[in-house]
Amino acid sequence: MVYVRSILVLAILIAVMRIATPLLFSGAQPVREDQLQEIVYVDTKSGESFLLRARNSPEAHPGTGEPTLVPGMYCEKCQAWKPVGSMEQLQTGNGTRNCPVHKTPLVREGPLPERF
Ligand SMILES: [Zn+2]
Repeated sequence: MVYVRSILVLAILIAVMRIATPLLFSGAQPVREDQLQEIVYVDTKSGESFLLRARNSPEAHPGTGEPTLVPGMYCEKCQAWKPVGSMEQLQTGNGTRNCPVHKTPLVREGPLPERF
């Protein structure tokens, strides 16, 4: 009788583990595409700006496929987005970035370019 019971316990354990395993792993999955923050990227070649999900820096240009897009910040005087370099610089906000033309601080918010 003890033998039968331990088999039963084992079977239940296996069943529980099968259910629990995917749950355990789901917590470690990478961030889903639609959970990524959208930021403005600026093409260092053409100066075009794009609204893209923050993934890489530099990011590939949607048209040419070349890694020429870097995170950008907005100059209210130029009324244009300026490339600021790495994503770390943008996120940590260490040291304000100035417009290369106006020498005024760039801001994070501005009119958003077309989404790709
Ligand atoms: Zn400017």
